[in-house]
Amino acid sequence: MNRGGGAEQPNDEGSDRMKKTCVVTGGAGFLGSHLCDRLLREGFAVICIDNLLTGSVRNIEHLAGNGAFTFIKQNVADYLYIAGDVHYIFHFASPASPIDYLEYPIPTLKVGALGTHKTLGLAKSKGATFILASTSEVYGDPLVHPQPETYWGNVNPIGPRGVYDEAKRFAEAMTMAYHRYHRLDTKIVRIFNTYGPRMRIRDGRVVPAFIWQALRGDPLTVFGDGSQTRSFCYVSDLIEGIFRLAMSHLNDPVNIGNPREMTVNDFAREILRLTGSPGPIVYRELPVDDPKVRQPDIGKARQLLGWEPRVPLEDGLRETIAYFRTVLEEEQASGRRGSGGGGR
Ligand code: UDP
Repeated sequence: MNRGGGAEQPNDEGSDRMKKTCVVTGGAGFLGSHLCDRLLREGFAVICIDNLLTGSVRNIEHLAGNGAFTFIKQNVADYLYIAGDVHYIFHFASPASPIDYLEYPIPTLKVGALGTHKTLGLAKSKGATFILASTSEVYGDPLVHPQPETYWGNVNPIGPRGVYDEAKRFAEAMTMAYHRYHRLDTKIVRIFNTYGPRMRIRDGRVVPAFIWQALRGDPLTVFGDGSQTRSFCYVSDLIEGIFRLAMSHLNDPVNIGNPREMTVNDFAREILRLTGSPGPIVYRELPVDDPKVRQPDIGKARQLLGWEPRVPLEDGLRETIAYFRTVLEEEQASGRRGSGGGGR
């Protein structure tokens, strides 16, 4: 356990939280690491658990030496033991991009099912509040648009994306069962497409894929005819919504995402404009069961959490592009040193 000196100092408002501890599974991932940062700033102690299947120590290395931060390398689908009090458990561990869950279908099912069971068991034994990172994928290829929390979804259970979608649907069912049967305080956040620094450049999702291609001067690969839509939320907005939900008295699922919807074609053009890349855009086969539309109905978050996204797409993309430029420069430098660029 790391109990050394602290770099991230809690703000004044959070000083009364100093004794409270949060567990963040998947804390070395894209969203998990931003969540760890936020919780530390709020004055919580944070125990990050990650098996580094798709997470990276790079995302948490700035927290080394912070006395309020502890990292445990473990698969949360296995038995979990944490000493001492725990007040909040954020279950964020999972492969989260379509190519990841194609590459790791069984770990994806296990972390969503067994990992949710283990983390709920931990929450029950500690009397902790449990926050499940769920997903817009529970709506599948939606027949209702935009998607409110009351929509039950249109998911193909046996398609290649089914391993993620059904694991998260099971995780929601398990979470509600613990809430109803064990009276555990639980929250479910349905996360829509989110982007920002610390996404993996090769995770295959559209934001890193297009930015990486544009920065390298490669063609942008639009899948299908590019008329499918997504709505992109900047990571700081998402974390704010999750934090508000965690501190709330709500127990039903809440959508958190940005309702500004655009086609993948328009998104590709925006990346070309912001990077100054000439393109071109090339078209590739649409992956199986790729949802045709996606836009969160955030009425519930607006009304009950007083939350809505604030960061305009252009601002968020500029931050993200700057991050990927740094990663590209590092890769090129390490390539020049002959150690190869690779890695996720
Ligand atoms: N997409 C694309 N080119 C890429 C990667 C993704 O056109 O190189 C498309 C993908 O088919 C989907 C959308 O972009 O329609 C968003 O894909 P992503 O993998 O980011 O996540 P999803 O929203 O499908 O879970």
